Amino acid sequence: MFSVLACIRDNHDWRLIVAAVIVCLIGNLAAMLLLFRAGECDPGQQRSWMAASALACGVGIWATHFIAMLAYDGAFPISYGVGMTALSVVLSIGASWLAILVATEWESPYAFAGGGLIMAIGICSMHMTGMQAIEETVDIVYNPTSTMIALLIGMALASAAFFAFRELKGTRRVLVAAVIMVLAIAAIHFTSMSTIMLVPQPGRLVTATLLETKTLAGIVMAVSTALILAALSAVFLASHLTDLRGLANASMEGLLVLHEGRIMDANERFQEMSGWSLAELRGNLPSSVLALAESGGETRHQEASLTARDETEIPVDIMTRRMIYRGRNCQVLVVRDLTERKRAEEMIEHLAHHDVLTGLTNRSLYDTRLRHALQMAERKRSQIAIFCLDLDRFKAVNDIFGHAEGDRILCRVAAILKRVAGDGDTVARLGGDEFAIIQTGKPQPEAAQKLAGQILDGLAAEMDVARDPTAVGASLGIAVYPIDGRTAEELCDNADTALYRAKHAGRGKACFFDAEMDEAVRARRQIEAELRHAITRNQLYVNYQPILDSGSGAITGYEALIRWNRPGHGISEPEVFIAIAEESGAIVQLGEWVLRQACAEAALWPKPLTIAVNVSPVQFMLPNLCERITAILDETGLPPQRLELEVTEAAFMRDRNGVIATLMRLHKLGVRIVMDDFGTGFCSLSNLRALPFDKIKVDRSFTGVLEHDAAARSIVRAIIGLGHSLGIQVVTEGVETELQRQIVVEEGCGQMQGLLFGKPDIEPSVKLAARANFLSVHGGERGAAQVLAMKAPAK
Ligand code: C2E
Ligand code: CA
Ligand code: CA
Repeated sequence: MFSVLACIRDNHDWRLIVAAVIVCLIGNLAAMLLLFRAGECDPGQQRSWMAASALACGVGIWATHFIAMLAYDGAFPISYGVGMTALSVVLSIGASWLAILVATEWESPYAFAGGGLIMAIGICSMHMTGMQAIEETVDIVYNPTSTMIALLIGMALASAAFFAFRELKGTRRVLVAAVIMVLAIAAIHFTSMSTIMLVPQPGRLVTATLLETKTLAGIVMAVSTALILAALSAVFLASHLTDLRGLANASMEGLLVLHEGRIMDANERFQEMSGWSLAELRGNLPSSVLALAESGGETRHQEASLTARDETEIPVDIMTRRMIYRGRNCQVLVVRDLTERKRAEEMIEHLAHHDVLTGLTNRSLYDTRLRHALQMAERKRSQIAIFCLDLDRFKAVNDIFGHAEGDRILCRVAAILKRVAGDGDTVARLGGDEFAIIQTGKPQPEAAQKLAGQILDGLAAEMDVARDPTAVGASLGIAVYPIDGRTAEELCDNADTALYRAKHAGRGKACFFDAEMDEAVRARRQIEAELRHAITRNQLYVNYQPILDSGSGAITGYEALIRWNRPGHGISEPEVFIAIAEESGAIVQLGEWVLRQACAEAALWPKPLTIAVNVSPVQFMLPNLCERITAILDETGLPPQRLELEVTEAAFMRDRNGVIATLMRLHKLGVRIVMDDFGTGFCSLSNLRALPFDKIKVDRSFTGVLEHDAAARSIVRAIIGLGHSLGIQVVTEGVETELQRQIVVEEGCGQMQGLLFGKPDIEPSVKLAARANFLSVHGGERGAAQVLAMKAPAK
């Protein structure tokens, strides 16, 4: 140890020693850094990094040796042979490569020691070869013991370096390993040098090419510095580039780097998205894969279409940027795949335009399609058929079997419609059990007739109404452009009208719109629609027609008759709208309203006259009709005995027993039951006996012909006789002339009603009379007669 230190102190130029140590340290730092880098790389790249590391290490060792030799002051000048010098550097690099390979790749816990051993041998052999390069006029005398000691120390330190590299983490791993490796190299060199003897042999001839000390110094310094710097810059450049590429590849967006308008690079995402490899893309114009619009500013977004390798078109969004890439001014296209977004947009679009349950077109898209179809048809002068389709019995199935079953049926119907409709036809569900079809581009009405047949057949084939309680049928209404209308509204309306007729013609039918036939239907539908709001809009009022006692001529009561002040149509007679109200069910509300009005009115009358109110057969379908009537009596305070309910025989057609039970209960309450329109029905007599009738009203059709028709007169006589024999009051309505009155009186009819005695009026004369009385008693300006003659004010 002492001799080594003495050797360094006495025989070396310490400044050059410092230089050698620095070169050695830099070489080893580079080597360890490269080795560190190798550990981070994929296996494929690992070897190249390790080779670079070996190069840095080997050159470092070699340079250290020769700089140290320059520092050595051996009392006479030394020159070196080129061949051996070159061999020494090769040995140094080769040994380093082998040592690194063993230390890092050998799968053994002692790999570090193996690496250390090889490294030490390598350093020793490099050292000796380097010594052998010294000109042949000098003999080198080694001390074998110290050479062995140098080898062992070197081995221990080199192993320790590899061990440290394996065990430590982070930058410490590189620093500590490099420093220990420097110690190993220095130890071998100086231990060996401290015992070496150089014996000059002046007589020997020099055969080899020689390098002067100064030249060698220059070469060594230059080569080592260059190599080490190269190694270091490689570390930074490579890590920088790899990281950049990794970053680019990790990006969710495709990146295309363009240089002078041509593709220079593409990241993995772009290659994956397009299916094109980098090799295929490189050098091409971007327009070969991207349908780009004119590129604008630096960060402008553009929609474009990317042609993939498999020829599919991918919608993309492109953003353009500029950057310096690999030292060149490049354009970067950031390509974002819009497939998912487009899909989501399409889904939202689909939801907005389709029925969720059946997947059919919904009303909004149907309207749009219809308008487009009409525009097309107008241009091409072609025809269109509009189908309105409504399921029969659907409401009942839905109510009885539940909504799930209802939904299932709607889906089945939708499937049938889709199957039979043509490809260009639009099948839509407009809501509930309402469907519609637009049939285009076919000769009409033949095509519509055919499709209607297919729909009805398809439904009949799949839904056996006779056996399956959930099976439904359908009614169809069809309107054809241009003959049945030119606008969408007109056509839909007419198809709807035709559907209405189809439903009334017995379900399971298809009807084409027919202007004449559907005019009546349209009017009915109009009334039906308007009638729904008549009560709330205060368009209804009640007229009162007096009923007189035949004997005294005194008013015994009034019949309440409804009137409708229909906007645009004047006063509507009940003949026009009652039947429609019965069909739509509006009569229930209407009838109740009239009853309430009439009872309230009668309750105000000064005399306890009767009030007759007509009750429609439809109202008897209400299970609680009796309770409702009772409630109205309670509400208005009218005694039941003053109320007469006029019932026609049609009321008994449906639920005879139910209706009888209701009438019985009302009769027991004291309400009087009148059989209206007597003589026009079929089973009058049987009804008369079985039912609690208090009065019969002879139909006005008999009264009108009494004067000339002997048969009519005998029927009237029979009815009156029947009434007497059953103890039932009889009233004859429709008495218009004095002669009719005389006949009716002669035949012994108790009461009379008709225009002869008074027309239905807004204010019953009993009220006017009461008011006239009041006025005359209290000295009113007008006389009672005047008031009586006074026209009732319009409400
Ligand atoms: P109805 O019950 O047989 O009513 C008598 C009809 O004969 C009334 O017609 C009345 O104005 C009319 N009339 C009265 N005197 C004469 C006459 O001397 N000669 C002729 N030819 N006719 C006369 P209106 O008011 O047009 O009512 C027609 C029908 O409408 C009624 O026949 C009744 O069935 C129904 N109706 C009227 N109001 C109501 C109501 O509030 N509820 C229900 N369910 N039906 C009503
Ligand atoms: Ca009546
Ligand atoms: Ca009548």
